[in-house]
Amino acid sequence: MSEKKQRSYALEVSLIVAALIGAFLVQELLNSTNDPTVPNIGSDGNVLTGDSDSANDSEVNPNETASKVEKVPTEYFPNLTDLASEPDWKQLDSFQNTISKEDFLRELDEVYTIGGTWKKWIVVAGDHALIKTHAQDLERTYRLNFLTNTDPEPSAKEEALETAKTVETVKYWRPREDIKYSDESLPLQGVRIVLDPGHIGGSYAKMEERQFKYKETAPVQEGNMTLMVAHLLERQLKVLGAEVELTRSTNFPVNPHRVEYYQNYAQAKMTFKKDIVTPDTVERASEKLFYRAGEIRERARIINNEYKPDLVVCIHFNAAGSSQNVLIPNEHLHMILNGAYEKGEISKDDQRFQLVKKILQRNHSEEVALNSSVARALTIQTGLPPYMYEPNSKRAVNVNNDPYLWARNLVANRSFDCPVIYCEPYLANGVDSHARIQVGDYEGLRYVNGMLRPSIFREYVTAVTEGLVNYYKQREISE
Ligand SMILES: [Zn+2]
Repeated sequence: MSEKKQRSYALEVSLIVAALIGAFLVQELLNSTNDPTVPNIGSDGNVLTGDSDSANDSEVNPNETASKVEKVPTEYFPNLTDLASEPDWKQLDSFQNTISKEDFLRELDEVYTIGGTWKKWIVVAGDHALIKTHAQDLERTYRLNFLTNTDPEPSAKEEALETAKTVETVKYWRPREDIKYSDESLPLQGVRIVLDPGHIGGSYAKMEERQFKYKETAPVQEGNMTLMVAHLLERQLKVLGAEVELTRSTNFPVNPHRVEYYQNYAQAKMTFKKDIVTPDTVERASEKLFYRAGEIRERARIINNEYKPDLVVCIHFNAAGSSQNVLIPNEHLHMILNGAYEKGEISKDDQRFQLVKKILQRNHSEEVALNSSVARALTIQTGLPPYMYEPNSKRAVNVNNDPYLWARNLVANRSFDCPVIYCEPYLANGVDSHARIQVGDYEGLRYVNGMLRPSIFREYVTAVTEGLVNYYKQREISE
């Protein structure tokens, strides 16, 4: 190499290095100066793909917390839900004598199961229930004593409830009346809220089957849209006095494990179930375990052990099953409360435990109040009609004759040990919403699809905010 060439080569190298450092610094600067709660999205459709290229297995996971990580089992146990471990029934001890037999039976029959499927697992006697704890050994039971009128002290119930409140691992959330409120201008004062932007999005959107592409338009990725709503909502709720955390703040899994970690478990399960085991089927099953059970379990672990909120808001955009090249004209809205455990679900030891725990924590009444308030606000803001399940559905049960409220047993609303507001508005592949999604986020009003309106994301945020404010502002002001 001539001296001249060498010099220009050296110059080139140093220019490249300088450019790289420059790009890094600009990136860092952007990261620190951009308001992280407002994705800066134009009308070019970038909203839909977002920071998808940031998701790379070799990078540091920005969602990851420093706390301990759940081990992935390698063995499959048919009496437990995927990746679950055996429940600790002793956790329910502090709820002894806190619920009447009538209340317990009513919730079992009307909310948590359909057609009396619980009877195989729970035997209700005079003043107690015997709950089978092990599907493999039906002799093993947990005895739950009911609150009875013959309890010696009239304060027994109060006392038991007080004890239940203090056992943090068992019940960390507070109903509305227990959250202190002293400043009328902050209607969400003191309320601890976790926002859970559904799915992962980004480069995981395709794998998790949450990507929709209509003709030549930009692909719609649910996980990116839910994250945008969560960021806007976080800022709004904090202004109103709430303490807010997000389960994720990027299009990156919260789950520290990756697909390959689940292969042994997937193979064990498929072998047990006598499914066809090929490298392809194992890969697909491992992917599902990674982005669904594994991901939600990790979010639940963080919510239940670290954030311990009063409620979780699960943010989703619905979609209607159809081929990729069709947009659906009729969109709808519904909220999903925990309940309607199917026959196969209540037969899992861990789900049966969660069901009983939900009943004893009085989760349902708080969940109904929260979801109906948000449903009302969403209806007013979006004008969407309710989604109706089949009247004889085995997986969904209508709640309180409110057409917008449905009980269903989802991993997310079951695993979070507090009331959950689970929103399913819009259709990402609906004619109107798809047009609005393509425009992206914007401030103020724009003329979109024949109407003057806010961005679909801000409309969502306004509705959830209003629903929460309308509920929590009814608290009594304390000194
Ligand atoms: Zn979703």
